[in-house]
Amino acid sequence: MPSRIKVANPNRCIGCYSCMLACSRTNADSVSLIDSAIDIRTSGGIESGLQIIVCRSCIDPPCARACPTGALTPRNGGGVVLKNELCDSCKVCADACLPRAIHFDREDMPVICIHCGTCARFCSHDVLEMIKTEVL
Ligand code: SF4
Ligand code: SF4
Ligand code: SF4
Repeated sequence: MPSRIKVANPNRCIGCYSCMLACSRTNADSVSLIDSAIDIRTSGGIESGLQIIVCRSCIDPPCARACPTGALTPRNGGGVVLKNELCDSCKVCADACLPRAIHFDREDMPVICIHCGTCARFCSHDVLEMIKTEVL
């Protein structure tokens, strides 16, 4: 059965960026946070809390429907799979994603969550977890 990443306990996030670094290191062989598919954002000010932005594993993904080149296709279990060779960096997918979970790396390629679970393993505050999903 496929799995997907879930933000299980957002209030436990302390903004340490361990998840982002783990994603960048593992999936892009990079130490730059821009290569992470999960994003931790502050809304400004110590009282305003942190936003944890990651793919919500849509079953009928708006990003894939919006992509004009077929570079994004639905993933078994939710979310999408990117075919780099078909992407022309038009960024239409980013606008179609309601949680704004798609951003672009230095080469203008979309950074897409592959639901590998690495970020969850590196979060020592149990903010993230992997859950089983229905097979499409
Ligand atoms: S940036 Fe790439 S993946 Fe996104 S909509 Fe354009 S072609 Fe598709
Ligand atoms: S990237 Fe956004 S629109 Fe696409 S599957 Fe994930 S949450 Fe849904
Ligand atoms: S599940 Fe994997 S690809 Fe997705 S944000 Fe976490 S580490 Fe990155």
